[in-house]
Amino acid sequence: MPQDPTKQYPAPPFPRQPQEAPGDTHTMIPVPDHGEQTYRGHDRLGGRKALITGGDSGIGRAVAIAFAREGADVAINYLPSEENDAREVIALIEAAGRKAVALPGDLTDEAFCERLVADTVQALGGLDILVNNAGKQQAVEAIADLTTAQFDATFRTNVYATFWVTKAAMPHLPAGATIINTASIQASQPSPMLLDYASTKAAIVAFTQALAQQVAEQGIRVNAVAPGPYWTPLQPTGGQPQDKIEKFGSGTPMGRPGQPAEIAPLYVFLASSESSYSTGGVFGSTGGLLLS
Ligand code: NAD
Ligand code: MG
Repeated sequence: MPQDPTKQYPAPPFPRQPQEAPGDTHTMIPVPDHGEQTYRGHDRLGGRKALITGGDSGIGRAVAIAFAREGADVAINYLPSEENDAREVIALIEAAGRKAVALPGDLTDEAFCERLVADTVQALGGLDILVNNAGKQQAVEAIADLTTAQFDATFRTNVYATFWVTKAAMPHLPAGATIINTASIQASQPSPMLLDYASTKAAIVAFTQALAQQVAEQGIRVNAVAPGPYWTPLQPTGGQPQDKIEKFGSGTPMGRPGQPAEIAPLYVFLASSESSYSTGGVFGSTGGLLLS
């Protein structure tokens, strides 16, 4: 049966709901949908071995659930303070009958990024899907108030970690491996309050396009997903001011934010051999907002 996407999920107004970054899933009102009850796999990633950063919550959690139900073994990285969210994801991966590996740690540390890849390869017996998805977003209205410390932390989390984890992964990736980076509509339609964040997402797009050309002859594909407004802990933890949380997603043609379950299939498609001729691409899921 066709479903009307405008009515498929909650629309604003939402209550104000400030929480500290990196935030917690069950504090959100409404709790996001990661496809726990709905995602059905069809063995599209049978025997694959995936590492997902930021796999505890939001988009990364939905991707972890989908990958496991498609037959992949999955390692997730997250911050140590997110253990509660991560435990739920580990249980969901195991319930799908797949191997689940929990690798907490801070990606702003290059040595940790190298260890993360080594530990993944050891635990899964290899690696052939890398999803660079962890992200930091803190809205600041004026450049005068944007500190060097925040600018640095946003770049380290979003850009440097993507570089460090990818560089460490590369020697392990066989032909047929896929890398998916989480960019954003902010790369091409930056919000004034997200000066540092939007800049990191533009960097991720260029990184994706350059690396895709570099490694195509090795049979490795690199793509980016560009989400529009998605209902995840990133947003009420300072990603948006609370007055914007109340109407989050209202500016899209769809009139509502996306739910993580709605974007996971795009990651499955890009991870699987079904998308074998797609590399260096940026794939939007924006509720109708234009990417360029
Ligand atoms: P989320 O808060 O659920 O996920 C982000 C994750 O990043 C956190 O769970 C945390 O584990 C991880 N993280 C942050 N700093 C880290 C660090 N120093 N070390 C290790 N992990 C760290 O939110 P989300 O919206 O699902 O975010 C996933 C990705 O989607 C991010 O790259 C974000 O920029 C991107 N994105 C989100 C939206 C949106 O509207 N939610 C829109 C466009 C792009
Ligand atoms: Mg989280």
